[in-house]
Amino acid sequence: MHWATHWGYAPSTDRAPDWREQGACRDVDPDLFFPVGTTGPALAQEEDARAVCHSCPVMLTCQQWALDTRLEDGIAGGMTAHERVLHRRRQRRTAS
Ligand code: SF4
Repeated sequence: MHWATHWGYAPSTDRAPDWREQGACRDVDPDLFFPVGTTGPALAQEEDARAVCHSCPVMLTCQQWALDTRLEDGIAGGMTAHERVLHRRRQRRTAS
């Protein structure tokens, strides 16, 4: 399975390249970005996924997309789903 299908995006050959085509994760097993659990091996997996994101030329774009679309699962833009929830909560507090 192509990595991008995990993010709800199917690459197409008949349109301009999307930022996702530049993702450092495009040749990485997509399962890396979906650790199961919150302890032990899952934490190590989370750090490995985060390391891929931190080497990615489109990390900030991906991170903003994940926040804007309220992506519920997986690590994207170097953030876990839980971190995205906390980030949105902080933004709401700041705005009010
Ligand atoms: S930031 Fe991470 S999840 Fe997003 S495109 Fe880059 S490597 Fe993939």
